[in-house]
Amino acid sequence: MTNSDAADDSKDGGQDAASVRVHRPRRAVPTDVVRPTRAEVHLSALRHNLGQLRRVAGQASIWGVLKADAYGHGSKAVGRTLERAGIDGICVALVEEGVELREAGIELPILVMGGYYGNAFSELRYHRLTPVLSDQSQVERLARAARTSIGSGDERFSCHVKVDTGMARLGVRAEEVQGLVQCLTERPCLEVTGLMTHLANADVSADGVFEEPLRRFEKARAAFEERALLPRTQHMANSAALLRDARTHFQQVRPGVALFGIDPLAESGLTDGERAAVKLKPAMSVSSRIVSLRQLEAGETVGYGGTFRATGSTRIATVPMGYADGLSRAMSNRGQALVRGRRVPIVGNVSMDMVTLDVTALPSVRLGDEVVFLGTQKFEDQSAEITASDLAKWSDTIAWEVLTNISRRVPRFYREA
Ligand SMILES: *Cc1c(COP(=O)(O)O)cnc(C)c1O
Repeated sequence: MTNSDAADDSKDGGQDAASVRVHRPRRAVPTDVVRPTRAEVHLSALRHNLGQLRRVAGQASIWGVLKADAYGHGSKAVGRTLERAGIDGICVALVEEGVELREAGIELPILVMGGYYGNAFSELRYHRLTPVLSDQSQVERLARAARTSIGSGDERFSCHVKVDTGMARLGVRAEEVQGLVQCLTERPCLEVTGLMTHLANADVSADGVFEEPLRRFEKARAAFEERALLPRTQHMANSAALLRDARTHFQQVRPGVALFGIDPLAESGLTDGERAAVKLKPAMSVSSRIVSLRQLEAGETVGYGGTFRATGSTRIATVPMGYADGLSRAMSNRGQALVRGRRVPIVGNVSMDMVTLDVTALPSVRLGDEVVFLGTQKFEDQSAEITASDLAKWSDTIAWEVLTNISRRVPRFYREA
């Protein structure tokens, strides 16, 4: 099985008897039988956010980070939309994520940042994906594969090199830069077209979070420059750094979460003077409908373990959205949802497929009423919003994880507006 088989859900599995089909949950029943739980992705918000980030990035090109299925928004649709909107390139974490975008017809350059496994060279080359190399053994492996496959012509294989400036995850360490540069010099079949690093503390509000990484990056750049290997493109900035410090922009920036309308600095307490002003629009909303309503008497409990007990007459609405859909169980008796333009509390434990809301305060609520878990709801003259950051707070995590947790069981609907 090749990566392309795994990532392709349009190809006929019968073409290659040995190939393993990766089954993705699909709607196996007609649309009108499917439960009303859905995510909507607003493509105009993506275009708007790209425009906002362009203003901040200035001359730097924007490579959108579409890893993890574009943060749960669906990488094919997001990739196509951003390509048409003029984004400069795409970054993903995995080879198979890059392949999926190529098979969706995306022509933009694609950088595979998370390293690669096994002998991915032919896959990378066939799909015109650019790997990021972090250590000498990767360089050697890739060069060997490139030499045997490219032959003796002038053709070179393009790669970026990642430097560790404090994340301590991937990336070449300062003390190993010289050795890596030497190794690259001896392998002219590889062409370093980008030098990059990733910041650990770009959204930490403390002063000076960029000083040490900038200093370390500068040292690595100098080592590459000394051997005439410094590529024209250098990049460092995720969304937070892009919005915070132009010294991190270099020639290219890599925003992810901000493209999807999440401000990574919203909770940082930074002042207007310490960050760029942008108005981002959330690209995803998640909603469902009330499928059951009941009146409890004082003393009755709700859900597994009976963790909520009614203290008086209480109206409970059941909604088919559970932790298997990405509504964290940590929100049991803690989170909120929107009904009729108002916030109502989640009561009882969130279960796998369902959640229960206390709608006692809204006597007019009816079966079939819309429930919004993420996004804005307007009802008559009421309006309220739940952001990914709200959900993150209620479930002890970050907005990034809230978005990527919206599971495949929730169908995505794409709207131009
Ligand atoms: C995920 C990621 C980004 C984007 O980060 P955001 O905080 O979502 O903007 C950029 N660079 C690398 C290497 C990443 O892994």
